[in-house]
Amino acid sequence: MPLDRIQSTVLDDILTGYGGVLAGLQSLDDWREESKTLLTIAHAAAYMDGTGVRELSAVGRQYVNSLLASELTYFDAFVDAIAGDGLDEATVQRRLTMYTDKLAATNDAGRYAIWQLPAQPRDGRTQCLSNCGCSWRVEVLSVEELDADAYWQIGKTESCPDCLSNAARWNPLQIRGGNY
Ligand SMILES: [Zn+2]
Repeated sequence: MPLDRIQSTVLDDILTGYGGVLAGLQSLDDWREESKTLLTIAHAAAYMDGTGVRELSAVGRQYVNSLLASELTYFDAFVDAIAGDGLDEATVQRRLTMYTDKLAATNDAGRYAIWQLPAQPRDGRTQCLSNCGCSWRVEVLSVEELDADAYWQIGKTESCPDCLSNAARWNPLQIRGGNY
């Protein structure tokens, strides 16, 4: 399933569930658990779509698990906020979009998995954390030889010191024979 379908499907499913909560058909905690499962499946699907392989590799599993560890903690805080204040549907939808936007980063992580890049934007290792707007641009020189030049590109809206330093040292990151 392509990325945009994964994103819209998970968003629709989670919002439909929230509609059920508002209508009194489902408890907030049931919705919380169901949504976390949907996000977990969606990240795995986005990664696999990036690699083009319909199976999650050990590297992929590790990537998705470590990303979900923080994502699901944020999601819990989000649901706690709903439980505390009650959030209207539009606000919930806007916040949920931030979660589904991150599937693009997971998709990229899968796409570039073969190159074993040293870091990924939004992987939590830069000060900008999940706000990171950076991306990799990988110029493949030879698939057979595993040669590529990879550039860490700064996002339009951010300039955190860690990302500036990544952009300076990986400009490009020269991968030759699969090594750098
Ligand atoms: Zn960044």
